[in-house]
Amino acid sequence: MDNLFIFMITVGVVLLTLSLRPTLKICKKTNRLAWSLLLILIVLFIFGYWGILYYFVNNTIIPFVTSSVSFILLGGGAFVYMVIKLSSKSIIEIECSANHQRHLAEHDSLTNLPNRKKFFEVLNKKIGHNDTFTLFLIDLSNFKRVNDSYGNTCGDALLCVLSKTLNLNLSGLARLYRIGGDEFAILLDSVSQDDYASCIQLTNKSIEKPFSIFDQTIRVKLKIGVSTYRKDTKHINELFKFANLALHEAKKTQQQVVHYFSDLSVRADDLFDMSSRIKNALKNEEFELYLQPIFDSQQDEIHGAEALIRWPQSDGSFISPEVFIKIAEQTGDILNISKWVVLETIKHLKLLKSAGFIGPLHVNLSTRDLESLDFYEFIEPLINLDPTLSDSIIFEITEGAMMTNLDAARSMMYKLNDRGFEFSVDDFGTGFSSLSLLRELPISQIKIDQSFIKDMLTQIANYAIVESTLFLANRLNCKVVAEGIENKDLQETLTSMNCDYLQGYYFSKPINLEEFIKKYSNEDMYQII
Ligand code: C2E
Ligand code: MG
Ligand code: MG
Repeated sequence: MDNLFIFMITVGVVLLTLSLRPTLKICKKTNRLAWSLLLILIVLFIFGYWGILYYFVNNTIIPFVTSSVSFILLGGGAFVYMVIKLSSKSIIEIECSANHQRHLAEHDSLTNLPNRKKFFEVLNKKIGHNDTFTLFLIDLSNFKRVNDSYGNTCGDALLCVLSKTLNLNLSGLARLYRIGGDEFAILLDSVSQDDYASCIQLTNKSIEKPFSIFDQTIRVKLKIGVSTYRKDTKHINELFKFANLALHEAKKTQQQVVHYFSDLSVRADDLFDMSSRIKNALKNEEFELYLQPIFDSQQDEIHGAEALIRWPQSDGSFISPEVFIKIAEQTGDILNISKWVVLETIKHLKLLKSAGFIGPLHVNLSTRDLESLDFYEFIEPLINLDPTLSDSIIFEITEGAMMTNLDAARSMMYKLNDRGFEFSVDDFGTGFSSLSLLRELPISQIKIDQSFIKDMLTQIANYAIVESTLFLANRLNCKVVAEGIENKDLQETLTSMNCDYLQGYYFSKPINLEEFIKKYSNEDMYQII
């Protein structure tokens, strides 16, 4: 056999051998069966090439066959080598671009710090893993003044320098996130007093000297709210809320740092006492369900109602749901309360239907309901029994409840949405309004919080918030309910702004079922007040 053909087949084998490493790399990266099969094939080809070479060397073959086969084998080797090289290059490029996209999605473009999305991801993971940690929320006290006096470019530059300094000082001890305009969060993987003190000290060190920005000397002041997660913390999902409360308290009382516990929290004994009272109230059927009508502004007729729990006391007073629901969320009793509310709502729906009322009833859910599979397992047989239930019940969830554990909220909401249930974002605007929330979750309705509605005719900022929420909701195909309509002016203004539904004392306070049927069933049904 001619030496040239031996050389050609050997080059083919070398090319195939050189393809092995990149193929192995691709196999590891993509984890695809097809690439593993290709790797095995290349190995078999290498053996095949050696076999043919051996056969050609030791036997007399027609030269035409030897030359053709050598050409084909060399071509085959070159082809495999080139395809593997190009694929490997493309895969690396795609991976780089995906990493870049991921970085952009998880980092703030101004400061390059991990952003709010990343912060909640890490926070939820920590809570899921039961890791102990301390959360610091930081707010710049005088940032608005900086923007107003020196302009936004100067404000942006200040944020960049400050985050760089903070990040540098805290590196190795804790992680810094930018979670809003002038809001930062620090996650410290420890609850030790020393680490806590170091964190505060390093944060203060970062702002000790004034910053020099565009020839301006700017001194930064911070307010810090802290909450700590220890193994015995019962209300872990509320940590962000607690740190926010502490931050609020720091601003209100002009202290630099406020730690959540102590006066801001209900004492453990009180919680225990209240928890047993709630359990007894459920057992003794002390709770009642009231209904507050929701009106269709354009049709001038009742649309549905919100189911609101009431806890009457022997002296004729009521314990506000705002008090006992918060406690029930901390003690875990909320799940049983929510189940009771759903069952009672179903009973109400039956009676309302037979009285001629066909609108949906809104049921409020809390974070704990969304986090617990138990809640879905409770709902599933009910919807199996009556598939029309999902047309008659709309679940209201506050932004805060969704954000506390976004993954859990998303999963539960999609599961319920698959069974036909719709969702309304309650108290919209008061939480951590994130537009992506409306895109990410199966939300079909927004309830603008009453704090914006009440003064919208006298406070231009509130009017603007309501107006832009209506615009946004319209673009996202969401219906809007305005809560807290207390007078005719508000009713008329919101009707003229094309707000879909209205709810408030102007129409009716929450009332019991008997009164509701008397007022809104049959012929009275189409009368506004
Ligand atoms: P929410 O879900 O935002 O309910 C609306 C609250 O605003 C109700 O207070 C209602 O009575 C009140 N409201 C309605 N219209 C007006 C108005 O024109 N002016 C004023 N000043 N207030 C108005 P309520 O019943 O005391 O409930 C307070 C909160 O407690 C609710 O806020 C909700 O977050 C929670 N809650 C009530 N019932 C339940 C329940 O069954 N389950 C859960 N998880 N939470 C509930
Ligand atoms: Mg509500
Ligand atoms: Mg509300």
